[in-house]
Amino acid sequence: MIDFFSRYESRIEVGAPSGCWLWSAGAMPDGYGCVRPNGRTLLTHRLAYEARHGVGAASGHLVRHRCDTPACVNPDHLVIGTPAQNSRDAVDRGRMARGEKVAGSRLTETDVRAIRAAYVPHSKHANQRALARHYGVDQGTIMQLLLRKTWRHVV
Ligand SMILES: [Zn+2]
Repeated sequence: MIDFFSRYESRIEVGAPSGCWLWSAGAMPDGYGCVRPNGRTLLTHRLAYEARHGVGAASGHLVRHRCDTPACVNPDHLVIGTPAQNSRDAVDRGRMARGEKVAGSRLTETDVRAIRAAYVPHSKHANQRALARHYGVDQGTIMQLLLRKTWRHVV
């Protein structure tokens, strides 16, 4: 495991009034920072969380931003959350159209990334069925995107 903060110090901007540490390079289209060691795309806020709390601390969980700033990698602003909490936060903050998850079965790119990051085989809270239920799609949809038969353009 790399020491995330020492390795990437030059890419992190500290000093925002909000206390956020902003990832300044390699952002995903939705604002999350990412790095690609060995061809794998890793989300920087997850690496930051694990740098503070230990390797594997984020696996099987969503890492939420209490500051609602996707590019932020300040561990003080990062907490573990469930998919349900994550979408409740988004609704609370008015970013997600109300009812989007209830009425439709359409996923956004952000959803696809979140699903791929959260998925854990055989985990009661993050297996395909749990994710399907949370996102209001069928399990086949989840499986297809995890296998990259769909949403291949989303890295
Ligand atoms: Zn922050």
